[in-house]
Amino acid sequence: MNQADFARRRSAMVEQQIAARGIGDARVLAAMRAVPREVFVPPHLHWRAYDDAPLPLEHAQTISQPYIVALMAQALQLGGTERVLDIGTGSGYAAAVLAQLAAQVYSVERIAALADGARRTLQGLDRVQVLHGDGSLGWIEHAPYDAISVAATGPEVPAALKSQLALGGRLVMPVGADADHQMLLRLTRVGPDDFHSQSITAVRFVPLLGAQGWAA
Ligand code: SAH
Repeated sequence: MNQADFARRRSAMVEQQIAARGIGDARVLAAMRAVPREVFVPPHLHWRAYDDAPLPLEHAQTISQPYIVALMAQALQLGGTERVLDIGTGSGYAAAVLAQLAAQVYSVERIAALADGARRTLQGLDRVQVLHGDGSLGWIEHAPYDAISVAATGPEVPAALKSQLALGGRLVMPVGADADHQMLLRLTRVGPDDFHSQSITAVRFVPLLGAQGWAA
């Protein structure tokens, strides 16, 4: 498959899987059209890069379904000036999409090999920084964040992440007790100790393992 084939599949993905399912934010659709997903999946899966599905990465992790990446990005309501915290770098795909939509993306991954791999894939993209660490504690150095995206499920939204969200900021994260009962939530910080919570949709993510997630 060559570049033109990938580009064709990418625009079909945006039309059929994303716009058709109701993602209406034009900037999000443009970002999904701009980022080559094949670069972020293992070589033997390149031919499936634009499937309507999550795909396996190394270390039993997954790159999220494109629709879910778009849904989370849209829920963060990004205009281009924001500083975004991305927890669970994985392949780096969601970070690359968020970098199209915001000013700066700080991404944290607990598996060193994945953090290193994502850093290599994202090389040259100045708007993304990747840290190897426990993202359930956020990344205090660059806080507060206008938006926080968490791509792994916790028992609840970590207090550390809530405290690193700017006033008016949005946080999107799956929360649930097990693999079959997870709800994607959006929290908006409306006051220092006040958060407005909305349920977006039922989802299935890998667990957030860490000090303010599940025990590793
Ligand atoms: N956004 C990724 C998909 C991530 S899958 C992409 O676009 O490819 C979820 C990732 O969260 C996995 O890589 C997993 O290792 C990571 N993860 C789980 N717990 C974490 C924690 N406490 N801190 C940082 N990353 C974590």
